[in-house]
Amino acid sequence: MKSSPEFPLPADAAARRAEPAVVAYPTNDHTTADRRVYQSARQKLTLLKCLEINPRSADVFSVPAGHFFRIVSTEGPQVGDLNLWHQHDLNEAFYSGKTRALHGTHLSTGDRLWSRFPFLRPLATITADTLDWYGWDDDGCSVHDVIGTRCDPYTEHQLSGRHYHHCCHSNLTRALADYKGWSFGQAEPYVHDVLNVFMCTGFSLDTHQYIMKASPVRPGDYLEFFAEDDLLGALSACPGGDCSASHSSDAASCYPLVVEIYQPDSTNSGGWESPSVNGYRADG
Ligand SMILES: [Zn+2]
Repeated sequence: MKSSPEFPLPADAAARRAEPAVVAYPTNDHTTADRRVYQSARQKLTLLKCLEINPRSADVFSVPAGHFFRIVSTEGPQVGDLNLWHQHDLNEAFYSGKTRALHGTHLSTGDRLWSRFPFLRPLATITADTLDWYGWDDDGCSVHDVIGTRCDPYTEHQLSGRHYHHCCHSNLTRALADYKGWSFGQAEPYVHDVLNVFMCTGFSLDTHQYIMKASPVRPGDYLEFFAEDDLLGALSACPGGDCSASHSSDAASCYPLVVEIYQPDSTNSGGWESPSVNGYRADG
């Protein structure tokens, strides 16, 4: 947080501040999804699997390449923390920071979830968002952020001194450990910064601190993804519920979330191919 300056204003401060801003990573045909391909593929979907995530817990699911998955609100306002990996190599995980740099602080239809270096390719593409009407509110907030990392017991302990065991970080770690037959310690390094599904967040207009408010999600809302390759996902139903007040709490009203896996009609695939890993080759 920027506190009151300790150093004097230079004479040309206004001119320096007036320099034009440019988009750091302008997206182009190499980074943007061709939405027509996905819209065509999702015309006819067959529900293959349904998985309910209990409140204050997480579960792991797999999605074959070329399939869709939805995260669905079914009972009440609830935020979900999503991790994604390449199913056959967990080192290729979702890279929220570079996704943020490419697509902005909050994601919606057409945005892609990119993987870590050296892979840097789309793991998934968002193909439908029933909350896209929300846009930006007067607090500068929106939904589905890639700025909040995930609620975790270490920051909670640093701030409050208490031990809380159902943060999304812990839930995701336990779920991955159970799925893989690993210990908690083996699984923990693979848990990474998330896409905060349905969470309504932003930066305060004065201090630019991370802020949250009650999620606008209601039963029936969903966020839909297309799996660009064979994926493993983990979703935590955040202990903060709608995250209107807290995110590491047993007091908030919490509801389940549902993950649905869909197979498209293969005749509608529109010539889609799984993206190759990034083409850059290091010279050393
Ligand atoms: Zn959480």
